[in-house]
Amino acid sequence: MKKQILSLAVVSTLSLGAVISPMYANAESISSLEQKKQEALNKRSGLNSEIDEKKSAITEIQSDQEKVKSEIGALDTAVKDTENKIKEKNAQIDQTTAEIEQLKVEIAELIERINKRNALLKDKARSMQESGGTISYMDVLLGAQSFSDFIDRVNAVTTIVQADKDILVQHQKDKDDLEKKQKQVETKLSDLQSMKKELEALKGQLKGKIARQQELMKELEQEEHQMHGEINDIAEQQKILASQADAIEKAIALEKKRQAEIAAEQERQAKLAREQAQLARDRAAAQKKSGTSESSAPASAPQVLAPPVSNGMFMWPARGYVSSSTGSRGGAYHYGIDIASGGTVPIVAAADGYVSQSYTSSSYGEVIFITHSINGKIYTTVYAHMRTGSRTVGPGSVVSKGQRIGTMGNTGQSSGQHLHFELHDGPWTPDKRNYVNPIPYLR
Ligand SMILES: [Zn+2]
Repeated sequence: MKKQILSLAVVSTLSLGAVISPMYANAESISSLEQKKQEALNKRSGLNSEIDEKKSAITEIQSDQEKVKSEIGALDTAVKDTENKIKEKNAQIDQTTAEIEQLKVEIAELIERINKRNALLKDKARSMQESGGTISYMDVLLGAQSFSDFIDRVNAVTTIVQADKDILVQHQKDKDDLEKKQKQVETKLSDLQSMKKELEALKGQLKGKIARQQELMKELEQEEHQMHGEINDIAEQQKILASQADAIEKAIALEKKRQAEIAAEQERQAKLAREQAQLARDRAAAQKKSGTSESSAPASAPQVLAPPVSNGMFMWPARGYVSSSTGSRGGAYHYGIDIASGGTVPIVAAADGYVSQSYTSSSYGEVIFITHSINGKIYTTVYAHMRTGSRTVGPGSVVSKGQRIGTMGNTGQSSGQHLHFELHDGPWTPDKRNYVNPIPYLR
């Protein structure tokens, strides 16, 4: 967001300068060029503050990353803690389950003992009956020989019965106790199990939180990566602008020199004409005739596949067909035309000029920027995606129209061999606001 605001600010300050572009008056056009150069420098300092903005944004992103990292660390600790608690619960569950198993064994043993005791008592009763025919406790009591004998028998029978009864009652009580204990332990077990379930749910939540934090971390890393990419882009733009300011100056000097040469040539021609006229007059006076003229047109030696040098303002930079024109293209804006062709296709300078940049860009691939000064007006041409190692001119080279500067290729962000060609009516700017459709200019 900050980036956009900044860019808008830069654009609005620069667009004022764009309105003033005198075309012919020489002194005026030179001052306009000086202004363009100043614009390029201003734009550069704007980009510097844009880089500073982005750098501080990266610092912010990095501190966010630190926060997320420590958050993930805390969550990891919480997960470990929860895992330990689950382990603890598992141990308790194992222990309680073993306890229940033990109680079940004890209850089974007790039940067996009670059954045995019951059987024993039944046997005892049966044997008492069998040994005395129809003898029962009552018979035993009624068979007393005397009162004291009766008391003895009562005591004996009562003791036996009571003892048996006590044992049975005790056994029953033990059994009840054990069953009660088993129930308690089973309750404890189910409590433990539900606690474990809660802990596992907690662990799941923590893991979910970690996943979200990691997602956030990834986003922050991507953001940082993108920011670095943007800084690189701006740094590339700065480089282009820096060398362009110099190129504009050089292009102006070239044009001044050319104009001076034209003036000198005109002066020379005029002088020659004057001399020849004088000579003719002299000869006429001498009644003699003479005159030879030698003209040697520069032998044009066009490269095999290079386009012919034209008289137009700009010539076609390569042979081929226009595979894509300027305008919206797949959501992005295309600031140039694509000229496509197979084979080894020479790329030539579209007009006389001064090479401001010749380098390898991640997007443009092998690319050359040429600054032209034509009729006191600055133009910029860009030749992108050239074949690796094919560039024949470096920054600072003076090139003439039709001079080969490289070979059509497929470097940078390109799919298939083509020349991406841009024409800017003015200096190149990062927002490419000076771009024009080059086709009407190409002859
Ligand atoms: Zn293109």
